[in-house]
Amino acid sequence: MTSQEQREFIRTLYLSDIHRHFDGSIRPATLWELSEKYYSAVPGLDYEQFRHYLQWDESQDSTLLDYLDKFHVPLQYTQFYDNIRRISYELAEDAYNDGVRLLELRINPLIHRRAGLTSRQVLAATRKGFDAFTETHPDFRVGIIVIAMRNHGGNMARILLREIVGEREDFHNGAGVVGFDIAGHEAPFPPVLFKEAYALATRMGLKTTAHAGESEGPERIWEALENLGPDRIGHGTSAGQDVELMRRLARDGIYLEVCLSSNLQTGAVASLADHPLPKFLEAGIKVALCTDNPTVSSTTLSREYELAMTTFGFSEDDMRRIARMSCQGTFLAAGCPEAGGG
Ligand SMILES: [Zn+2]
Repeated sequence: MTSQEQREFIRTLYLSDIHRHFDGSIRPATLWELSEKYYSAVPGLDYEQFRHYLQWDESQDSTLLDYLDKFHVPLQYTQFYDNIRRISYELAEDAYNDGVRLLELRINPLIHRRAGLTSRQVLAATRKGFDAFTETHPDFRVGIIVIAMRNHGGNMARILLREIVGEREDFHNGAGVVGFDIAGHEAPFPPVLFKEAYALATRMGLKTTAHAGESEGPERIWEALENLGPDRIGHGTSAGQDVELMRRLARDGIYLEVCLSSNLQTGAVASLADHPLPKFLEAGIKVALCTDNPTVSSTTLSREYELAMTTFGFSEDDMRRIARMSCQGTFLAAGCPEAGGG
């Protein structure tokens, strides 16, 4: 199959991305425009140089720190209601143009509050942007996953949950919050700190996922399962080292949200060929193929599907199955519209 044929085949799939971050998915051109608006110019930079601060460049970037550096520039612009709304609209549009029809976008409201917005206002701006897009694209489904940062601790996670209860999907006609997640540095902030927050999220009617086993070993995934009881695990890359854990994930139907480019760039795997995705499938684990951060990783979901086909030699049937599973893993109340098909 030529790469052109591969791309055409992928265009026929119903694509769902259930692990994508707001901050890592912003159009560089929009941030460039905002910086010109705010500061009249970006001193000493042309657009290409500016873009380097936002997007992975294989020829210059190689470490986790290079990856995390890409999240700094957007934050000065994502503190304002209108910008968050616009970015959310564009983010939906970019996903749609790539063939994505179901999107779960995760956002940590606290880091967008530095100009005085409340957590609810941050989420309301996100909802408004999504609603404006779905109004003209009714075949696009979208929901929000709220992230608590690990380094803010478990109590802050519970406070955040209480703040945003009114943003739940079932309180609104359009998009709303469907899930809860923790992200950030794994080692000093183990899952046990968030045990009560996850119990609260579940009582609030939210589904749950947790970043785990990305930069740390399988024991962190075990701890997440024992303490948080999540429906899905973000990445879970190191589960590939633990047969017992893979058995457990398969038995309990716990999804792994797999992000190939991101895992390579942050060093979670040494090469794409080393990625445990084929092992996960063989073990009967449900997986969703996702982007994590399309802008930061210089990728799209269809590109990630291409990478999976090229790297692992997956067949069209394999890819159909992955696309179907990715959709069925959704937290949206309406579920996966493709549940029976594909
Ligand atoms: Zn992530």
